[in-house]
Amino acid sequence: MDFKLSEEQRMIQQMARECVAREILPVMAAHDRERPLPKSVMLDLYAVLKELGLMAPRLPETEGGTGLSYLAYGMIMEELPAELALSVMAHESTVARIHLGANEEQKKRFLPKLIAGEALACTGISEPNVGSDPRSIETRGRQEDGMVVLDGTKLWITNGSISDLIVAVASMGQDAAGRNLITRVVVEREHSPYHASEVDAIGLRQGHLSEVVFENCRVPEGNVLGEAGDAHGALTATWLANRPLVGMMAVGLARRALEACIAYAGVRKQFGRTIGGFQLIQEMLSEIATRVDAARLLCYRALAMLDDGVRSNKEAAMAKWFATENCLAAIGLAMQCHGASGLTREVEIERLYRDARMLTFPDGTTQIQHLIVGQELTGISAFRG
Ligand SMILES: Cc1cc2nc3c(=O)[nH]c(=O)nc-3n(C[C@H](O)[C@H](O)[C@H](O)COP(=O)(O)OP(=O)(O)OC[C@H]3O[C@@H](n4cnc5c(N)ncnc54)[C@H](O)[C@@H]3O)c2cc1C
Repeated sequence: MDFKLSEEQRMIQQMARECVAREILPVMAAHDRERPLPKSVMLDLYAVLKELGLMAPRLPETEGGTGLSYLAYGMIMEELPAELALSVMAHESTVARIHLGANEEQKKRFLPKLIAGEALACTGISEPNVGSDPRSIETRGRQEDGMVVLDGTKLWITNGSISDLIVAVASMGQDAAGRNLITRVVVEREHSPYHASEVDAIGLRQGHLSEVVFENCRVPEGNVLGEAGDAHGALTATWLANRPLVGMMAVGLARRALEACIAYAGVRKQFGRTIGGFQLIQEMLSEIATRVDAARLLCYRALAMLDDGVRSNKEAAMAKWFATENCLAAIGLAMQCHGASGLTREVEIERLYRDARMLTFPDGTTQIQHLIVGQELTGISAFRG
């Protein structure tokens, strides 16, 4: 076991940190922090993210993949503002979901623009009535004259409003046992228009969390990926990495809260002393730092296992719930250290808290992660009671 980062990993981390400070934060700060960034700005930022190797890290290098390890990817996630990190993960995991099971013609048709960062992608699984249980998806696809006709509504879709393409997960009928045939259908907005609007949520407000509506949306049959009913496997394969990656986004938010807290504790005075000298403030700083480090280590472990080709289902789920919940708690403590000023929009902590609050849901809620860990430990599924 080696807890040291390699020279290459340190370089990637440093490069990401500098790139974010130089090319990303100033752009985001120049726009309203409470409103979704315009698509043109997102495309400019994607040009920067492309340089970091984030457009197709999961594809083989022979097919446009960028050769980034999962661990290095996670390190970059820690450095990026969470809105952008979640956006690019949604984009590139959609690339991976297309690549998994697409035929050569489909790969040529859909992937180049996405890998170039010239078009934006998203995946639509969740719906108003369907969240943790994607097998019960209500969006329907029916075959008609060589086309698939989609009807249904997707909700909480990262990138939905700015997307050029969505992998819509739809039911294409039922199997003999009456189970939904959950299937991936690529919908290109230019040819098969869909309606998308922003959802107003507590955090990640410069990002794009959307509702996407398909109404009699006609898509060529040639856009169906893989076999009818095989979507679950492709989704599970990508969730495995997404979980610790979302964990690393939370680590990034909590680390920034810790840095702000240390700085504040060094200057704020009460009872004639800087508050950083009070034991109870140091206890809070210690707890924040420990939660951040523990979260980061669990995420690193899950990502390193994936790099070693291990299907780290339990470790990925542990990393996701622990990192998101503990980083949220850590930022809550950082707010406490700031006194009442921590509650205001004058300091960054309040926004970090709202952003972290969003991360206990995507790619499986905390409760779903616990059920995965429990199933791995006992061999018993508690999903359906
Ligand atoms: C920031 C963000 C980005 C997202 N991006 C996307 C995206 O790009 N694409 C997409 O398709 N979706 C996306 N989602 C949706 C996300 O996947 C869902 O929010 C998540 O799957 C949970 O679904 P739900 O919110 O409907 O909650 P529900 O599934 O309705 O759950 C409600 C509550 O019940 C709990 N619960 C559910 N089932 C069980 C059970 N068996 N046992 C115990 N407790 C249970 C849950 O943990 C939760 O606390 C995103 C969500 C957020 C917040």
